[in-house]
Amino acid sequence: MQNSIRLTSARKAILDLLQSTHKHLTAQEVHKQLKDRLPSLNLSTVYRSLEYLVDHQLISVSDMGVGSPVYATLGDQPHHHLVCQNCHQIFDLDSGFVDDLFSKIEDRYQAKVVTNHLVLFVICENCRSKNRRN
Ligand SMILES: [Zn+2]
Ligand SMILES: [Zn+2]
Repeated sequence: MQNSIRLTSARKAILDLLQSTHKHLTAQEVHKQLKDRLPSLNLSTVYRSLEYLVDHQLISVSDMGVGSPVYATLGDQPHHHLVCQNCHQIFDLDSGFVDDLFSKIEDRYQAKVVTNHLVLFVICENCRSKNRRN
């Protein structure tokens, strides 16, 4: 499987960027951060490269409520988040909960969960307590 992955310079640069920032970036942000280093890189190449990396499960794509999909590296362990719908703060979700949920789903539905970056939208504690005061 690893051998069948072809890393062009654009794909490699994108992968390196996501690995080094540990952030969730939109395609536009990826393009903005790489265009000085790779002047020939255009936005549609960025989109195609991101798609390729997602298809080969090197990165994840998720809706985190910022208007565009965001991309992140998968690393060794899948990671998951809670995202506050109100203040857009991102929290890490205990992967133990998610592993439990996924294995229950797999048992019950005899299906393999392929989601590698789960995002659940919440109203965070801070925003909830603000609401209660008002
Ligand atoms: Zn993430
Ligand atoms: Zn909040």
